[in-house]
This record gives sequence, structure tokens and C-alpha cells, in this order.
Amino acid sequence: PLTSNDAIEEHRICVCVRARPLNKKELSVKDLDVITIPSKDVVMVHEPKQKVDLTRYLENQTFRFDYAFDRNSTNEMVYRFTAQPLVETIFERGMATCFAYGQTGSGKTHTMGGDFSGKNQDCSKGIYALSARDVFLMLKKPVYKKLDLQVFATFFEIYSGKVFDLLNRKAKLRVLEDGKQQVQVVGLQEREVKCTEDVLKLIEMGNSCRTSGQTSANAHSSRSHAVFQIILRRRGKMHGKFSLIDLAGNERGADTSSADRQTRLEGAEINKSLLALKECIRALGRNKPHTPFRASKLTQVLRDSFIGENSRTCMIATISPGMASCENTLNTLRYANRMK
Ligand code: ADP
Ligand code: MG
Repeated sequence: PLTSNDAIEEHRICVCVRARPLNKKELSVKDLDVITIPSKDVVMVHEPKQKVDLTRYLENQTFRFDYAFDRNSTNEMVYRFTAQPLVETIFERGMATCFAYGQTGSGKTHTMGGDFSGKNQDCSKGIYALSARDVFLMLKKPVYKKLDLQVFATFFEIYSGKVFDLLNRKAKLRVLEDGKQQVQVVGLQEREVKCTEDVLKLIEMGNSCRTSGQTSANAHSSRSHAVFQIILRRRGKMHGKFSLIDLAGNERGADTSSADRQTRLEGAEINKSLLALKECIRALGRNKPHTPFRASKLTQVLRDSFIGENSRTCMIATISPGMASCENTLNTLRYANRMK
């Protein structure tokens, strides 16, 4: 039978999947859709509905999550069931994290930051911005208004195990752990924000800093984790923190067999951090006292979010619908499945 403890745990971690539509490129090479979302919490990976000569038999597989969002879902809808409930957590003095996990091109940035590909750059519709919007709405509620809270934002990137400040010309930052096991990113810019517009400006600034000097935005972002944080402070002291993370492409783990040394090291680092992340979230869900946060820079800087009574997290696993991606898609679904 369910105990009251189970109820708490169940709400601490939410795991969702979002499938995007087939894109132009996939359609142009006649890739076929192998994903069906038959109900609000089920994802099926199956053979394409069209008759084709398959080089390989694709076994039907079904996964169940807290929510499954199909190709017609909007960011607003995904937001409502994932990050929105966590906004309240930080007002209640809690720590919240929301991750976008998936292969490059599956829709992580589209979900989190808005669409930055091509001309339609609009970060106002991503989960970063929607969360900020609701933070400022919550601040107006009398119960929170009287707390006199201030809002701050940080935006940084973790690349090959090193931290770079996206709000300060990619300054390389050190991560220190003091005697009390508090982890600190030394010199990280924390900008005060007074309205959603302020936040949008920071996101835009950070995003352009993130990809500057790169031949392709996706080539770079596939190798790094981007962390955007909204911090509530009361009389200078931290009241709550919401970390929103656009993770490195999970297909990068395969780079560990690359001929290029740098690529190989990056791949190994990404592998390590995604494995550590899984373990930390699992520890959080099981109320385990020991969280292996030291295993990677990513989990180390997020340490305070994995411990404590009032920590909650949400994982949005994004998947590409094409048959050509099915190996990565199955890996993503299996990883997300392990979080529950
Ligand atoms: P990732 O950040 O995971 O590498 P992106 O968010 O950059 O992937 O998405 C890759 C491409 O697919 C972009 O052009 C993006 O606009 C498009 N895309 C992603 N998700 C969706 C969606 N749910 N609906 C429509 N287009 C999407
Ligand atoms: Mg991206």
C-alpha cells in the first residue's frame, strides 16, 4: 500500500517526454515516423506505419511517464505540467530543477529557451521565459509580496567540465567546496531582474555569448550544458532557487570512440555528467542520504538542488520522431525511464 512517504517522493520527481514533428530535413530524405503517443502518459516506438523494406526489425516498445507530449503540443502546454508547478516550490523556500534531455536536434532548446534557429529567434516562448513570467506574477500575490523578495538571474555553461559565465563574456569560473560542503561558483554574475523583459534580455545576451565564435549554434550546444537560474533572495539570503538546464546532446557519449582526442574527452565528460545526473536524481527520489554529486561538474554545481527536504525536479526528455533517430530515441527513453 502507498504510504504518505510515497506521495512525497512521487511529487519530487516528474519525468516527461516530448516528441517534435518530423522536420523538413527528415521529410526530404523520406525518414518515417516511428513514434506514437496514444494517451497523455504513454510513448510507443514502433515500425513505421508505411510499408517499407526495413534493414532491421524494430521491436514495438512502450514506455509510461508522468506525461507524454505529442508533436502538436506547445511550449506553454509542456510548461504547465513540468516547470510551472516548480515555480511555487521556490516561493516556498525550496530548490527546483528542470532538465531538457535528449539528442541534438530533438527540441531541447526549442523547449527551454525558445527557438533560436534561423530567423524566428524568439526566447519569450521558452520555459526559461515562461517561468520568469510566473515568478513575477507570484511576487504580486499578497502572501509573497510582504516577504520583500528580490529576484536574480544567472546564466552559465558547463563545457568539458569547466564553467563559463554567459553573463560575463564567457569568463572561466572556479568551483569551490567549503568545509560545510557548500558549493560555490566563484565570481558568477548574479543580475537583479525586475520584470520579465529584464530576464529576456539576459537570456538573449547569454545565448549570443554562448554561441559566439562558433560555426554552428547546434555544434557548440550539443557539447555543453547551459544552466539558467532564477534566484529569490530575502534580505540578501537565498530563499529559493530554480535551475533550468538545457543539457548537452546525449548522443555525444558515443564520441568516446572518436579518432579526435578533444572530441573523445568531451564525449567522456558528457557521458560522465549525464550518468552522475541520473544517479543524483534517483538518490533524490529515494530520499537517499548519499548523493554522488561530486562525480561531475554539472552535479557538483547543482548540489544544493539535490539535497534538502524541499527539492523537486522535472526531466523533459525530448525525442526526434524519425526512424533514423530511433537508436538515440530508445536510449533517451530508457534513461528517462530510470529516473522514475
Ligand atoms: P536541440 O536543442 O535538442 O538540439 P532544437 O531545439 O534546436 O534541438 O530543435 C531542432 C530543430 O527542431 C529546430 O529547428 C527547432 O525549431 C525544431 N523543433 C524542435 N522542437 C520542435 C517542436 N516541438 N515543434 C516544432 N519544431 C520543433
Ligand atoms: Mg540546443
